[in-house]
Amino acid sequence: MNDALPRVPRPVNEPVLSYAPGSPERAALKAELAALLGRDHDIPLIIGGREIRTGRTAPIRRPDAHGVILGRYHQAGEAEAGLAVEAALKAKAEWADLPWEERAAVFLRAGELVAGKYRQALNAATMLGQSKTAQQAEIDAACETADFLRYNPHFMERIYADQPRSGSGEWNRLSYRPLEGFVYAVTPFNFTAIAANLASAPAMMGNVVLWKPASTSILSNWLLMKIYEEAGLPPGVINFLPGSGSAISKVVFARPEFAGLHFTGSTGVFNSLWKQASDRLSTYRAYPRLVGETGGKDFIFLDPSADPEAAVCAAVRGAYEYQGQKCSAASRLYVPRSMAGDFLDRLSAEISSLPMGEVTDFRNFLGAVIDEAAFDGIAPFVERALAGGGSASGGTARVLAGGRCDKSRGYFIEPTLILADEPRYETMETELFGPVLTAHVYDDGDMEAAYRVVDATSPYALTGAVFARDRRAVVRALGALRYSAGNLYVNDKPTGAVVGRQPFGGARGSGTNDKAGSPLNLLRWTSAGAVKETFSPPVKWRYPYMGEA
Ligand code: NAD
Repeated sequence: MNDALPRVPRPVNEPVLSYAPGSPERAALKAELAALLGRDHDIPLIIGGREIRTGRTAPIRRPDAHGVILGRYHQAGEAEAGLAVEAALKAKAEWADLPWEERAAVFLRAGELVAGKYRQALNAATMLGQSKTAQQAEIDAACETADFLRYNPHFMERIYADQPRSGSGEWNRLSYRPLEGFVYAVTPFNFTAIAANLASAPAMMGNVVLWKPASTSILSNWLLMKIYEEAGLPPGVINFLPGSGSAISKVVFARPEFAGLHFTGSTGVFNSLWKQASDRLSTYRAYPRLVGETGGKDFIFLDPSADPEAAVCAAVRGAYEYQGQKCSAASRLYVPRSMAGDFLDRLSAEISSLPMGEVTDFRNFLGAVIDEAAFDGIAPFVERALAGGGSASGGTARVLAGGRCDKSRGYFIEPTLILADEPRYETMETELFGPVLTAHVYDDGDMEAAYRVVDATSPYALTGAVFARDRRAVVRALGALRYSAGNLYVNDKPTGAVVGRQPFGGARGSGTNDKAGSPLNLLRWTSAGAVKETFSPPVKWRYPYMGEA
């Protein structure tokens, strides 16, 4: 439409359904779970709108019942990555030239499909493939995904509306051009919504994308791709490339058209991708945009004035929901000596009562960790703590709750609470990405020293929560911990950021802090071009000062 200034529908966060016994959504979800379990999935690549089956397949397993094979997916290698680059570049000009509101419409429609027609299919795929409970699947796969797809078009409209001033006789305009080339989206297993956002946000801004999903979230991610297609996304705009990250990256980083990386995952992998890009920097047509949201070692800090009941609830939900596999999950807990005894007893009792098992049994609060590699990475930390600590970093530890690890049927690690005497005990510093919370008791005679420990213990700075009833304590903590987290919470758990309400991201080792769920992220996918037009151009080049004195 050349003759209108369209307005994107005002976004509203998708309401979270309860799945309480007797609710229609519970029945619909259970039916979808049964249907999904009854199918043998054979998931191809999608390049330029075409399904490609390479024959190099890997199984899709349930983490909480790893004997159950849900199907298989085909893996891309270097040849397919090359085809995907060509398909993306072929689609680029037409997609970039489409009026922005038409691009917005594709993703707004996708948001409706996620919240409506495919809500339970996406939830069921996320539950079975990624071991999320109904509640955790709902807030992620249904609600947050729909929120990204509805809020980002609104942010895009706001960005485009931001125009420079014009002086008399001139008109200044800013066009938010897509990047020259293609964007590489590399997505983590733990949020279906993040996978949705990393590929769709650059595409919305007129870019073409190679999307490499995590091998442990293929089922839900494949459905997302089908939803984009059903919503009208033209072939080649987003190309779906499950497979070896290193093989695909080798092709991507070798192309002069590599224009941006949209990554979420571990700090180590992001650093290695950054290095590959920087090693080839001089070969690129433009400086690539490197956006990465990475690891966390997130804290809950209890001031002596904290409400213990609220803090117990925040620790349980913040540390153990989705088995602690949220970048924002609480994994360090600081308790003042004056309240430690009672508080840790109450917390341990709650943790010991948390039901864990297959997510298809709706009574469970936790499922399994994502795969065997995750299990094998976490279990030794728990075992060392059970043995009393004595890690390389020093210090002793005691397991106050949980501690059992069993991978015989599913990759189950009990929700575990460790008490460490040393603030730099290994599980206070290292990101485990599992259901393990480590508490340290601090001396509330010296609050400044306690804040310094919180700030300096880990290389990350993603999320943190402060519990205090005394307002002066809130102010002091927010000041002292200003750079300790990109997202700080007061009297709330450190997880659960909502699109449009808590723009999300951290700094230091936690990433480039480009705040997913806000216009700041979308700005990274444009390269602004300024145009100045003069209505009455001067025709004489001499300036008045050049006249004779
Ligand atoms: P990961 O780093 O193992 O994998 C992320 C993605 O990178 C996957 O698609 C993986 O296949 C790919 N990958 C791995 N090696 C690669 C390579 N050499 N080349 C190209 N791609 C490669 O992370 P994960 O296990 O999927 O997710 C957990 C991590 O993600 C945690 O560290 C967590 O804190 C972080 N995370 C951060 C945020 C945030 O917003 N800061 C959000 C979610 C997860």
